[in-house]
Amino acid sequence: MKRPLIVQKFGGSSVANPERIKRVAQRVIETKRKGVDIVVVVSALGDTTDELLQLASQISHAPAERELDMLMATGEQVSVALLAMAIHELGEDAVSFTGAQIGILTDGTHTKAKLVDINTQRVVQELAKGRIVIVAGFQGVNLNQDITTLGRGGSDLTAVALANALHADTCEIFTDVEGVYTADPRLVPQARKLDTISYDEMLEMASLGAQVMQARSIFVAKRFEVPIHVRSSFSQREGTMITKSAKAMEDIVVSGVTLQKDEAKVTIRDVPDKPGMAAEIFRELAEKEINVDMIVQNVSREGSTDLSFTVVKSDLPATLRITRSVSHRIGAGEVTTDEGVAKLSIVGIGMRSHSGIAAKMFEAMARERINIEMISTSEIKISCVIRRQMAERAMRVIHQAFELGKKKKK
Ligand code: ADP
Ligand code: ASP
Ligand code: MG
Repeated sequence: MKRPLIVQKFGGSSVANPERIKRVAQRVIETKRKGVDIVVVVSALGDTTDELLQLASQISHAPAERELDMLMATGEQVSVALLAMAIHELGEDAVSFTGAQIGILTDGTHTKAKLVDINTQRVVQELAKGRIVIVAGFQGVNLNQDITTLGRGGSDLTAVALANALHADTCEIFTDVEGVYTADPRLVPQARKLDTISYDEMLEMASLGAQVMQARSIFVAKRFEVPIHVRSSFSQREGTMITKSAKAMEDIVVSGVTLQKDEAKVTIRDVPDKPGMAAEIFRELAEKEINVDMIVQNVSREGSTDLSFTVVKSDLPATLRITRSVSHRIGAGEVTTDEGVAKLSIVGIGMRSHSGIAAKMFEAMARERINIEMISTSEIKISCVIRRQMAERAMRVIHQAFELGKKKKK
C-alpha cells in the first residue's frame, strides 16, 4: 500500500532561531517515524525577509524587482539548509532544495510571480529513497532561469501547490498561533479558535487581512480541494481545518473580523463626468498589476466628480505615478493621498441568507463614534474604511457586537 504523504509548512516564527529549528526537526521526525512520507516547506528565519527588504532600501529607493527576488530568496535558502542539518543531527536522512532545483516554475512577474507548473520528479525520487524532502518556500524560477518570489506569505502557496502536485493526504501549516481565529488573537484577546472554516471564508479573511494564511494559497487550495490543517508549531493541539464543506457553520452568520492596516486612499479631484474616464484610470493600474480595492465616486457637480479608491500602501508610489499621468491626460485635477486609513471587515457565509448584518455593524461603530469613510460589500463580507488610529478598538467593538468570542450552538 502507498505510504501516506504529508506536506508540512513551518513559518518564519517556527524557525526563528537554532533552538526552534531543532524543535521543528524533532517534530518532523516524529511524524516521519509513524510511517509517513514528508515534504517540509520552510520560510525564512524570523523576520529575515523584512530585514532583507530593509537592507535593500538602504541601498536604493527603487530596487530592481529582479534583484529584490534574488535577495529575498536567500532567506529561505538559509532555513532549508539549517533544517536539513538539524534533521541529520537526529539521525534521519533529509535533503534540502531551492524552488528552482525542484522545478517550481513561475511566470515572470517579479515579487508576486504566479505559479505555472511544478515538476515533482526530483521530490518523488528523493522520497522513494526514504528521505525527508525540505523545500524553500516563497520562491520559484521563471523560464529565463531568473529567481522569482510568490508574494509575501508565499511559503503557504508553495506548501499548498506542492501538496496538490504530489497528491498529498494533507497539508499542515504550522504557525505561531493555534489555528484560524475569529479575529487576530494578538489584537482581540477574546478571539476564539475555529475548528473548521470553509475555503470561501478563509479566502475572504485572508484577502482582508488575516495574515495567518496567504490569500493566493487558499485560492489554489479551493480550486484543487487541498485539505489544510492550520496549527501551532509550539503545541500538539488540533488547529483549524480549512475545507470545502461549511455545513457545521451554516447557522453562523459572521465567522470573523479582519483588519488591514496597510491601506492607502487615493483621490483624484475633478474627473470629467463623461463615459470612459474610470476605464481609462483603472485599465492602466490593472496593466501594472495594481489591485484597486474600494472605489467611491462622488455625486457629480458642474460636470466633474471626485473619485477615491484604496490600494495597498506598497503599491502607492506606482499608483501615484500612473494616476497623476492619467489625470493630466484626461484633464482631471489634483491627485491626493491619505495614508491614515485602515480597512475593517466582517466575513461569513451566513451573510448570504441573513439581513441586517450591515446595520448591526454600522450601529456598533456609531455607538463608539467611529466614522466610516468608505463601504464595500460582497455576498459574504462587509468592509469599512476608517481612521487607522481607531482601527484596533473598532475591531474589538465589532467582535463583541457579533458575540464572536462565544461558542455557537450547532
Ligand atoms: P508564519 O510566519 O507562520 O507564516 P504569519 O505571521 O504569516 O506566520 O501568520 C500568523 C499570524 O497571523 C499570527 O501570529 C496572528 O497574529 C496573525 N493573524 C491575523 N489574523 C488571524 C486570524 N484570524 N487567526 C489567526 N491568526 C491571525
Ligand atoms: N519569508 C516570506 C515572507 O516573509 C514568505 C513567508 O514567510 O511565507 O513573506
Ligand atoms: Mg505567513
